[in-house]
Amino acid sequence: ADHLISSPYFDKANSNYPSHDGVVNIALVAHDGKKDELLEWVQLYKSVLGQHNLFATGTTGGRIIKETGLKVNKMKSGPKGGDIEISTLITNKDLDCLVFFWDPEEAQPHDVDVKALLRNAVYYNVAIACNPATANHIITSNLFPKILYERSS
Ligand code: PGA
Repeated sequence: ADHLISSPYFDKANSNYPSHDGVVNIALVAHDGKKDELLEWVQLYKSVLGQHNLFATGTTGGRIIKETGLKVNKMKSGPKGGDIEISTLITNKDLDCLVFFWDPEEAQPHDVDVKALLRNAVYYNVAIACNPATANHIITSNLFPKILYERSS
């Protein structure tokens, strides 16, 4: 059952975004009501996140780039198909972790896409964090990704 405890979760040999040396692919997505919270979280872990390949939906990615200077692969905005693009990264085994601060207080026009993204992440056993408490656990976990902490020490 090694695959259940190892990280990165995917064999990147056939990935469009090959990872190496413990660099993994992380997607960052936040609904409007949660964008400030995600930005705050990204600032907190900026040095860690900066060592990985980052992906984000359009508006979220734009804010991360502008406010943190991190390099981000920007997809379309969520309501314009961005969630589906992130979901496709998962299907193609290009994503290791999804930080998705969805807003429990706001109905979304693209709710079906939101649901599909969450379903796909569960289906492919991608680590998902939907709030800061869980995101903190993932990013500081011994399982994720080991090499990062070895390199920075
Ligand atoms: P946005 O999309 O980053 O373009 O706002 C997020 C979402 O609605 O999933």
